[in-house]
Amino acid sequence: MTARKPGAPMPAQLRALIHSSVAHPARTVPCPHCHASAGRPCTLRTTGQHLPEPHPQRVSNWAQAAAVCPECQVEPKTPCHDAGRPLRYVHDRRTTEAKETAA
Ligand SMILES: [Zn+2]
Ligand SMILES: [Zn+2]
Repeated sequence: MTARKPGAPMPAQLRALIHSSVAHPARTVPCPHCHASAGRPCTLRTTGQHLPEPHPQRVSNWAQAAAVCPECQVEPKTPCHDAGRPLRYVHDRRTTEAKETAA
């Protein structure tokens, strides 16, 4: 189900979708998971196939570098923490914050 109005141009929508996945802002940082360098798409380690979305750890690293965390109040480049214990992935709200900043 979509909220698309009848007669809305589909190709433009598709192009926007493709564009947004190509230009995922997390690609500005290297991927610690598949070792894609900055600007390169993530790949499947087994087949080398390009992934449409960056790995979660890459998105997390990018959000960590780009945004203040609204959840635990840390500065950019500082990992999120839970009661002083560093977290492997940043809080979801920080990722949302970074995406809004990049948009
Ligand atoms: Zn990756
Ligand atoms: Zn946090």
